[in-house]
Amino acid sequence: MSQFDLLIKNGKLVIPQCGIIEGSIGIRGEKVAAILSPSEEVSAKKEVDISGKYVLPGIIDPHSHPGYPGAPYGSFYEAFGTETTSAAVGGVTTNIHFYRQYGQQPSPYEDFWEIMGKAEERSHVDFGVHLMISTNSQAEPKEYKKYIEEYGVKSFKYSMAYKGAEGKALGITNDVDDAFLYRTFAELSQYPGVIVMVHCESMELLTMLTAPLKAQGRQDLAAWTDGRPDFCEAESVRRILYLAEITNCPAYIVHVTCEAALREIMLHRERSPVEIYAETCTHYLTQTKDSPIGPFGKVNPPLRTQEDIDFLWQGIVDGDIDTVGTDHCHLLKEQKKDIWSAVPGFPGVALLLPLLLSEGVNKGRLSLEEVAELASYNTAKIFGLYPKKGTIEIGSDADFAIVDLDLEKKVNPEMLQGLSDFSLWDGWTLKGWPVLTVLRGEVIMENGKVLNKEGFGKYIKR
Ligand SMILES: [Zn+2]
Repeated sequence: MSQFDLLIKNGKLVIPQCGIIEGSIGIRGEKVAAILSPSEEVSAKKEVDISGKYVLPGIIDPHSHPGYPGAPYGSFYEAFGTETTSAAVGGVTTNIHFYRQYGQQPSPYEDFWEIMGKAEERSHVDFGVHLMISTNSQAEPKEYKKYIEEYGVKSFKYSMAYKGAEGKALGITNDVDDAFLYRTFAELSQYPGVIVMVHCESMELLTMLTAPLKAQGRQDLAAWTDGRPDFCEAESVRRILYLAEITNCPAYIVHVTCEAALREIMLHRERSPVEIYAETCTHYLTQTKDSPIGPFGKVNPPLRTQEDIDFLWQGIVDGDIDTVGTDHCHLLKEQKKDIWSAVPGFPGVALLLPLLLSEGVNKGRLSLEEVAELASYNTAKIFGLYPKKGTIEIGSDADFAIVDLDLEKKVNPEMLQGLSDFSLWDGWTLKGWPVLTVLRGEVIMENGKVLNKEGFGKYIKR
């Protein structure tokens, strides 16, 4: 009889592309060693009987911003301790963070390994990075080669917004324009498995449209949305997809917020074989521009309407949306005082899974298999983490989010255990929570309490 290091007994295993099966998981070291039928007798050094709870592959948040400008602990790694604690609370076992150099002269990431080392020392969960590319010196062919071959980075992000004064306010230097993107997409299309990610909003349109609203003295959350309307996003999506098409470069549109933008992606897929992926975020599925959250809800692109929310949920069901992320930023209340001066963004990583379970599964919109695909499997496949991550298979990392679908809890910022002292979902009662998080064969969270030490998480070369 073979002995396992850990046996997760009596679960309902949610296996992407396969379905839900009753059984147990035998783990040796950091890996899944066996998937067993419930009656099978085996020995293990440690057993956890989960009596019929669901086991999803560990959740992967593809979109978070440690070291966000203006946030407390502004360097990339300083807030890793709290923010990855918050990830573990939410069943997230892997983050793919955005790493950006702020300031006047961002360099081609020469200090990459030093920074990743410091991040590893603090991380509770595994992580990879997408590099933010915004200057010509960062976008030289030889630098891309270095990022890809030496650093193991396979995804690069560009922003159509955050230019000029808007960029400056956040300490961002951004030389991205159509020529920059055309050159870059053509270069990166030569690397199999490499993908470009774009924040789509027309800087020119939003600058023009926002100015009069500010001058009128509007202070409501909807004013932020009105300055950056859906066509401002859709126009930018269309332009990016066209550039992706003519350069044959796979692209990933981050944080799709609305019907108009998603329709552009659907149209592209009808006419072009070039792979395009669409991500949305939990806030675009649950909050509107009329939500009573004021400046806390300021984000780019902005919150939209109930009709957009409905369209996005349908897009998930129809497979038009591939992944869901959070755009997690560890901001504080004091940075969100009024709509014009507030720093855009808010925390979200701990609620990625609970919101999909509560608003998706428990409201009859999604199946658990769809959640496992949207929040783990698809993400792992797109970003080169599969089959190490993103599934429950023999040989994969033993990463799981074990879920009680009937558990109800009322959200407050403290329970999320990040640095932020607010949450857009404060006071919401959510039904369906992770009760255990397992990372590489270690139980790292039990009933909201994070058990592992900082430094357990590892940087993943892709
Ligand atoms: Zn973001």
